[in-house]
Amino acid sequence: MNSSIKALHQRLQQKEISCVALVQEKLDLLNSSTYNSSNYILEEYALKLAKKVDQKLADNETIGLLEGIPFGVKDVYLLQGTYSSASSDFLRNYKSPYTATAIQKLLDAGAIPIVKENCDSFGHGSSSENTVFGAVKNAIDQNKVAGGSSGGSAVNVAKNFTTFSIGGDTGGSIRQPAGYNNVYGLKPTYGKISRYGLMAYASSTDCVGPIAQNLEDIQIVLNTMSGLDYRDQTTLVSEPVSDESLSRPLAQGTKIGYYKNFIESDALSPTIKADFKAMIAKLEAEGMEIVPLDFFDASILVSTYYALAMAETASNLARLDGTNYGVRETGKDLKEGYSITRSENFTAETKRRIVGGNQVLSQGHSEEIYNKAQQLRQQISHHFDEDFKKVDVVLSPVTPNPVPEIGNNLKNPMTMYLSDAYTVGFSLGGLPTLTAPLAMETGVQITAAKKQEAILFTCANFLKQVV
Ligand code: GLN
Repeated sequence: MNSSIKALHQRLQQKEISCVALVQEKLDLLNSSTYNSSNYILEEYALKLAKKVDQKLADNETIGLLEGIPFGVKDVYLLQGTYSSASSDFLRNYKSPYTATAIQKLLDAGAIPIVKENCDSFGHGSSSENTVFGAVKNAIDQNKVAGGSSGGSAVNVAKNFTTFSIGGDTGGSIRQPAGYNNVYGLKPTYGKISRYGLMAYASSTDCVGPIAQNLEDIQIVLNTMSGLDYRDQTTLVSEPVSDESLSRPLAQGTKIGYYKNFIESDALSPTIKADFKAMIAKLEAEGMEIVPLDFFDASILVSTYYALAMAETASNLARLDGTNYGVRETGKDLKEGYSITRSENFTAETKRRIVGGNQVLSQGHSEEIYNKAQQLRQQISHHFDEDFKKVDVVLSPVTPNPVPEIGNNLKNPMTMYLSDAYTVGFSLGGLPTLTAPLAMETGVQITAAKKQEAILFTCANFLKQVV
């Protein structure tokens, strides 16, 4: 059994460990951590819940699978009564008035949130350096970045500070840090998990998803959080991923596609390229059908994504002006108050995106930029529809390059945007896509057609055995 959740569940149920001891052990690890992975450690909150689980155990009651399991929450989710800062000065002292649906479902299942996790401010970044809580350090090498934006969540899972964590993925923010820290991370089909209570970055691609050390735990957490929510009209009716999806072999002749231009690109690191090719050769030798596919240039994917993501974030963050949420600076009149509040409390990267987004949407430019990006997005989605008539899954690297050193991304935002080349396209398509820490230095990305999460698990399990 690989599942850490199931292993802990058994130990709790058989009273080999108390829930308070389990939670305390994780809290101690978080408190002494040097990774900058935590914004707020929920000591009192978590211990109170742990005591309740211990009481149930003392009364010889059966507990649910997730009951008493400690988990982390990226600091962009609302959890009633706790601070939710989005790693910004703006919301540093903002307390959540209600709880996000996805987190509430985990609470209802008895899981215990122990930490609000450091991330790029409002999800803006690919390294978790764009944060007022200090750059998150990579779990394997502290001189390197954790990846982003859900860097704190990936590091906490990798270091075993949390059993699993809930990240958020708009253009790669679960998959990329999962790859950088050698853990699993899933971005489900857009709409599979409710976004209610997740601070909006780019609403049309924002997804909630789990990060964990193994596929079993990803499956358990995914199934718990999924489903229709009347508070988020984009949610879908969804089937749970079955246990068989994880145990059945990948059928002989499964059609595995890859994008030729991703692999032939000069921007791809030679090691990642060689490892990718070796993986494809092994899959072919195992009787899989390999299908090379054509696709849009990565630079088109990146520009389309950033035009839309910036436009959406400029609109979404317009609500932060000091009136209703977070800090308020005063000026000589209301307008100046807004300006000072926004100028002083957003990070430079967030301001770059707000300015860029408003430009994209402004009169005289929107036809040329925003509308064009929307058209391209439709073409990209259409391309995926056609591709998934030909193949069952698409494999790709998670990132074109190995994990960067801390400090590099800050020097050149363009380099950072280009590091998202292989993740953003699948976000624009709303497709389910999983990072497995296999085959390449920053992991392999497995993508399927909408709502086909099950095959991601079957394929990842198979890859684990053969590569
Ligand atoms: N790195 C991408 C960006 O900065 C994706 C971030 C995310 O998924 N939140 O937009």
